[in-house]
Amino acid sequence: MDAEIIAVGSEMLTPERVDTNSLYLTGELNKLGVEVVTKCVIGDDRDRLADAVHRAFSRTGIVILSGGLGPTEDDLTREAVAQALDRKLVFQPEIADALEQRFLLMKRKMAEVNKRQAFIIEGAAILPNDRGTAPGQWVEESHGVVMLLPGPPHELKAMFERQCLPRLVRIVPKQAIRTVFYRVTGMPESDLDQLISPVYKKYENPTTTILAANGDLQIHLRARCATEGQADALLAEVAGPIELLLGDRLYSRNGDPLEVVVGDMLRKHRATVSVAESCTGGMLGERFTTAPGSSDYFVGGFITYSNKMKVELLGVTPEMLAEFGAVSKETAEAMAAGARRRTGSTYALSVTGVAGPDAGGEKVPVGTVYVGLSDAAGTQVAHRQFIGDRQRIRVFTTQMALDMLRRRMAQV
Ligand code: ATP
Ligand code: MG
Repeated sequence: MDAEIIAVGSEMLTPERVDTNSLYLTGELNKLGVEVVTKCVIGDDRDRLADAVHRAFSRTGIVILSGGLGPTEDDLTREAVAQALDRKLVFQPEIADALEQRFLLMKRKMAEVNKRQAFIIEGAAILPNDRGTAPGQWVEESHGVVMLLPGPPHELKAMFERQCLPRLVRIVPKQAIRTVFYRVTGMPESDLDQLISPVYKKYENPTTTILAANGDLQIHLRARCATEGQADALLAEVAGPIELLLGDRLYSRNGDPLEVVVGDMLRKHRATVSVAESCTGGMLGERFTTAPGSSDYFVGGFITYSNKMKVELLGVTPEMLAEFGAVSKETAEAMAAGARRRTGSTYALSVTGVAGPDAGGEKVPVGTVYVGLSDAAGTQVAHRQFIGDRQRIRVFTTQMALDMLRRRMAQV
């Protein structure tokens, strides 16, 4: 069964506010095996809202609205849903009385406008609100249900959990959602899609999503079946061939980022690593040290931005710098070897490149990057030409360096 969520409120169409209720609701619905297929934010406009509810409920069996149940003129959810479902709004004196009691308890007199909250859609079940004034409503029709829930998150959560979930369990067919989450690096998103789409395109279930950020690719497979066993079997059918195609580009099956995966490999190999960074200015060391427990393997590093520092700290020779330039295979090699020599680490990674936006006196184009990797067997250097802005080039460079070490360790 599918669901749609409609967040109501003009404030959520401003740059200051985000709709977080739908995230909570999506998580809870997924646990029941219900997929959220559409969500939207509608301002405080009765006709637009009625139109959105009408369209949502004509195609989807569960429609959840949050917000707009307050007492003021701009709280229009009740009216809009009544209009969309072609039902009347009925005044319920006992709700008005209960509201009045609530105000008395707070030693305040209820304003006349609060009576608006005592209007219930004909045939709806009332969902009491013990954390606020606006009662929710559960409107069932033969093909599904529309829920009206209050906007304040703590009110919505309590109401959904205690009153909507038990009702939903009764009408939602038993379903299980299982997911597989891969992380991949070392290829562009389009190449990845070209590689694995012949496999996943054959299946509508599981659904496959590819997300890309900072040279890191994520693949989400999501299966929906009557039982967990069936969902797992279906996932395995698709995931197996995809894993084969990905080969060693697949680095994580549990969501761990690259620096954590590389850190775990270092720990397993009882190996250590140091870094010598130029254009990344410490970002590579920063990524290593975001992993808790990284002191097990990360010994430290050198931020050698200037030539002088490369010479003094890493033993790169001025002659080499003069002959090949700071951004060169030779310099990357000497930096990595120097870092390893000075720290005694098992591995040393070096980075030198031009992050831009200007070439800054270098003879190579912006985006040119050399990464060196030194270990007991010697020093290898990889060269890449990245495109994009300064930050993108720097982040991609750290990704490249981490991946180089990962691949190296996979061979030993
Ligand atoms: P109230 O009786 O408090 O007016 P209401 O049902 O009318 O309840 P709104 O007025 O729409 O709710 O929203 C009240 C507050 O709840 C908003 O100012 C906002 O802080 C929060 N809120 C509303 N909708 C959302 C949402 N989708 N996600 C997160 N917070 C929300
Ligand atoms: Mg309100």
